[in-house]
Order: sequence, then structure tokens, then C-alpha cells
Amino acid sequence: MPPSPAASAAPPRLEVRDLVRRFGGREVVGGVSLSVEAGQVTCLLGPSGCGKSTTLRMIAGVDTPDAGTIRADGAPVFDETVQVPPESRGIGLMFQDFALFPHLDVAGNVAFGLKGPRADRDRIVEAQLAKVGMSRFARKYPHELSGGEQQRVALARALAPRPRIMLMDEPFSGLDERLRDDIRDETLAVLQAEGTAVVLVTHEPAEAMRMADEIALMRGGRIVQQGAPYNIYNAPVDREAAAFFSDVN
Ligand code: ADP
Ligand code: MG
Repeated sequence: MPPSPAASAAPPRLEVRDLVRRFGGREVVGGVSLSVEAGQVTCLLGPSGCGKSTTLRMIAGVDTPDAGTIRADGAPVFDETVQVPPESRGIGLMFQDFALFPHLDVAGNVAFGLKGPRADRDRIVEAQLAKVGMSRFARKYPHELSGGEQQRVALARALAPRPRIMLMDEPFSGLDERLRDDIRDETLAVLQAEGTAVVLVTHEPAEAMRMADEIALMRGGRIVQQGAPYNIYNAPVDREAAAFFSDVN
């Protein structure tokens, strides 16, 4: 279907084209392309070692591609001539091992990295904690919180600078299984309300099915299939893809 005039007027929030990364002559990301609209979630899904985290790190700007381009709202943040530093890309990060700072209370964690006058920062912290339902916990320390509560604070912290794009690398894998679905749904609701474009990395098909608007199925550094979750689930590109999805019910 051709794009509608309205859809083609604005560039995607995030657009990645032909991203390549080699380590010691070995190509671990071999030409990855994806685009994510505001308020949408794209899942990079694939087995361990297929290049998901490396792709995310290049988008974040903490690793440099050997080739390819990255654009945010149409403006290049990486190409042959441009390399915008990570802190200026308008990108938020949530990684599994991206723990809260133990010596700062909840408010201090959310305020960390914010700039501007104190009153403005306080207002942002209050608003973010309210969004994740953690206002009552502002003066608690991370060790006083449950895993799910820590996860909510981490989300508030990641969103406090109002990133246009959020990159999440297996952010839920440290959580108790009983909590996980609730936290996933809450996280998704908050991100959608913010209109953030999300790239979520996971090796769990069920997580991708639950959270993604679009799945990019990766194998050996390449995207082998890309589309809406149920299209991929119902029509996997090959036997390997079918086997990968066979646990999801
Ligand atoms: P995933 O996140 O899908 O598990 P990664 O992106 O972490 O995969 O890694 C992809 C491949 O690249 C793996 O084989 C990994 O060992 C390799 N790799 C990642 N980072 C480096 C690095 N800094 N130096 C050398 N090899 C690396
Ligand atoms: Mg990884």
C-alpha cells in the first residue's frame, strides 16, 4: 500500500539504514535497516549472539558503525560526515544491568543527569514519579524497593530528559516472572503516552509478541524477517524462525 500523504510528510522518528559493524574482520552486524515511528515499538528479536546489543549500542552512539546511517526525525546523527555524541542524540537507555545508583534516593536517581534550575528539575522528577506511580517512594533508597519498584524508577529516570527515542536491551530479564507481564504492560503504557519511539531488544519471542508493533527477526547479524508480530508468528520465513516461535502460545 502506498504511504498516505500525511504519513509521508514527516520522517520516521528513528531511521537506521544498512548498519554494519565488524570486530576483528568478523561482521557481527551485516546491514541492518529499520525505522520506528513516534509511539511505536520495534523489537529486535533473535538468539544470543546475533548482534542485537551491538546494533543498539551503535544507535545509542556508544559504538561506532563501520558503515550505514542513523537519522532521528530526519536529521542525521550518524553518517559519513556526522557523528552526534550519545548525550546529544535525544536517546534514552534502559539496560538490564543499568542499575539505579545505590547511594542516591529515588528522587536523586530520577534527577541524575537533568540540567537546568533546581525548581524545574524538581518538577520533572515529581511528574515522572507520578507517571510510574512511585511518588510516595521519592525519599526511599533502591535497596528499600522491590524489583518491580526499581524497574519503575529506572523507567522514570530514563524518561526524565524527555528522550525522543528509547533503547531497551532485555530490560525485564532481571525481574521475577510473576511481575514481568505487569511491568511490561505498565512500561508500554507510559512510553506510548510519551510518544517515544522504542527499540526493544529481546531473545524471547513471547516478549516481542506482547510488546512490539513490529518485529525485526535477527540471525547472524542480519534481519531475516520484519513485520507485524502476528504476521511473523503466522507465516515465519523458514523452519528456524518457526521453531523459534514454537514456544509462544
Ligand atoms: P546479542 O546482543 O544478540 O546477544 P551482541 O551484539 O552482544 O549479540 O554480539 C554479537 C556478536 O559480536 C557476538 O558474537 C559477540 O561475541 C561479538 N561482539 C560483541 N561485542 C564485541 C566486541 N567489543 N569485540 C569483539 N566481539 C564482539
Ligand atoms: Mg545482547
